[in-house]
Amino acid sequence: MNTQLKALYELQQIDVQLSAAQRAIAALDDGTKLRQQLALAEKQLTALTEQLKKSQSELQDNELNLKSLETKKSDFEKKLYEGKIVNPKELSSIEKEIEALGKTRAKLDERILELYDIVEKQQTDAAKMEAVATQLKKRLTDHLAQYQSKTKDLQKQIETLTASRQAAIATVTDRQLLSKYETIRARYKDTGLSKVENGKCGVCHVGLTSYTQRLLKENEQYQTCESCGRILFLEE
Ligand SMILES: [Zn+2]
Repeated sequence: MNTQLKALYELQQIDVQLSAAQRAIAALDDGTKLRQQLALAEKQLTALTEQLKKSQSELQDNELNLKSLETKKSDFEKKLYEGKIVNPKELSSIEKEIEALGKTRAKLDERILELYDIVEKQQTDAAKMEAVATQLKKRLTDHLAQYQSKTKDLQKQIETLTASRQAAIATVTDRQLLSKYETIRARYKDTGLSKVENGKCGVCHVGLTSYTQRLLKENEQYQTCESCGRILFLEE
C-alpha cells in the first residue's frame, strides 16, 4: 500500500515540475509591448519626416520667390537709374513698385530665416526619433531571439516531463487512488498528495490527530488530511 503512495508521490514530483514549466511558458513575454513601442516610434518618425519635407519645400519655394523678386527689383532699379524714363508719373510708379518689392523681400527674408530654424529643429527631431526606432528594433530582435530560445527550452522540458509522467502514472496501479489524487490536485491547481512531516500535513501544516497518525502507521487504508483533504503519505 505504501508502494502505491510512494509511486503517487513520484508522480506528484513530476506534476509539480510540469505545472511550473507550463506556467513559465505562459508567462513568457512574446514582445508585444516592444512591438507596440516600435510601431509608435515609426509612426512618429513618418509624421516628423513629412513635416520636415513640407518645411524644406516651403523654404525652397521662398528662396525661388526671393530670387525672382530680386531680379524684378533690380530690373526696375536699372530702368530708374538709366535715366531714360522722364515721365514723372511713370517714375513715381516705378519707385512705388520698388518700395513694394522691398517690403515683400523683407517679409520673405524673415520667413526664410524662420524656416532655417524650423528645418534644423525638425531634422534634429527626426534624427532623434530614427535613433529611438533603430534602438527599439534592435531590442525587439534581441528579445525575440531570447523568447524563442526560452520557449524552445521550456517546450523540451515539458516534452521530457510529459514522457516521465506517462511512465510514472503506469506505476500507480490503484486507479481509484490515482483518480482521487487527480481530483484533489485539480481543485487546488497544485498538489493532491501531502507528505507527513513531524505529525503535520506537509502542505497545509495542520497537525494530524493521534488517531489519524495511528491509522497511517497501520497502513491499511489511505488517509487524508482533516484540514485540506490531501492524501497523506508517511515516508517509512
Ligand atoms: Zn493538509
